[in-house]
Amino acid sequence: MSRLELIDENIRTISEYVPGRSIEDTAKKYGLDPATIIKLGSNENPLGPSPKAVEAILESAGKVNLYPSADAGELVEALSKYLSLPVSNICAAGPGMDGLLDNLMRLIIQKGDEVILPIPTFSYYEIAARANGASVIYVKRKEDFTIDLDAIGTAVSSRTKVIFLCSPNNPSGNIVHESDIRMLLRSFQGLVFVDEAYIEFGEHSVANLVMEYDNLVVGRTFSKLFGLAGLRLGYAIMPSWLKKEYMKIATPFNVSLPALKAGVAAISDEQHIEKSIAMVREGRKYLQEHIPFKVYDSMANFVLVDVSPLNASDVCEVLLKRGIIVRDCRSFKGAGNSLIRVTVGTQEQNECVVEAFRSV
Ligand SMILES: *Cc1c(COP(=O)(O)O)cnc(C)c1O
Repeated sequence: MSRLELIDENIRTISEYVPGRSIEDTAKKYGLDPATIIKLGSNENPLGPSPKAVEAILESAGKVNLYPSADAGELVEALSKYLSLPVSNICAAGPGMDGLLDNLMRLIIQKGDEVILPIPTFSYYEIAARANGASVIYVKRKEDFTIDLDAIGTAVSSRTKVIFLCSPNNPSGNIVHESDIRMLLRSFQGLVFVDEAYIEFGEHSVANLVMEYDNLVVGRTFSKLFGLAGLRLGYAIMPSWLKKEYMKIATPFNVSLPALKAGVAAISDEQHIEKSIAMVREGRKYLQEHIPFKVYDSMANFVLVDVSPLNASDVCEVLLKRGIIVRDCRSFKGAGNSLIRVTVGTQEQNECVVEAFRSV
């Protein structure tokens, strides 16, 4: 018996998560000064974290000999005010929304269950579901990346536990309409997970529907708008019956003290929030108007560029040589060979990106 057989077949056959490229690796590979690299491949906030969050992290540093609160109560209360939703419907989560997804799958998936993924979409759903024993059913999105309700309906079986809807969708940037989400919530017996990692850059959150449907979970993160990707903090809005069960199995103390304090500070920093959103809304319009390829409409802090008949990897290579990191979407199942995702940067960064695309 090979040692590898200690690991379940369902896990051995998972493809590794492909992260966006890092500044360090890119600098080394292309012989560039790290300080000059423009990183627009991971949808981070180019304005950095809120200064208030940074201050809160520094203040908490001297107290990390103590365990944080087990349920991140202070942050959950702050989120409750921020969202105008009850504490009993909110869970804070580390490490990031990814940690929440893993805990939720561990809670809900039983061997042989299925989950449905409308692709192309964020790839961690698949890893979290399969690592916990689920099989994944892929349903292609339509040409314009909207979800195909009929095809999802056909894919649902008695074993389907979760339907994952990313809204706005990573990597396409379009939202899932509320009427479609309501349709699925009404007709489907399992959970509908709506990933709102980018919701603040557009509108149309469905978080309030948690009060109306007892099978909706809405995932959120501090990694994108709030500029705290390195801290690994997320949260979810879910029905109170589910929060009770979730809290039983969530890893204790999964939100660190610096993350908790930074989260509370970040949602109080209206100035930084408004500035970040305004930059993204202007920037994505600029990118859409000036990149000389097809650029899809986006409600997120990135745009999706179709460089066909060219190849995404060739175009990314041209940009990388100029020190610009963008995301080659070939690693997204169902995305084809010609899509590139570009994070909206500062105006200066956006101008460099446009010039680089023009040089192709
Ligand atoms: C970035 C991202 C996440 C991950 O959030 P973390 O809180 O950093 O784990 C989740 N979903 C989508 C769609 C994302 O793009």
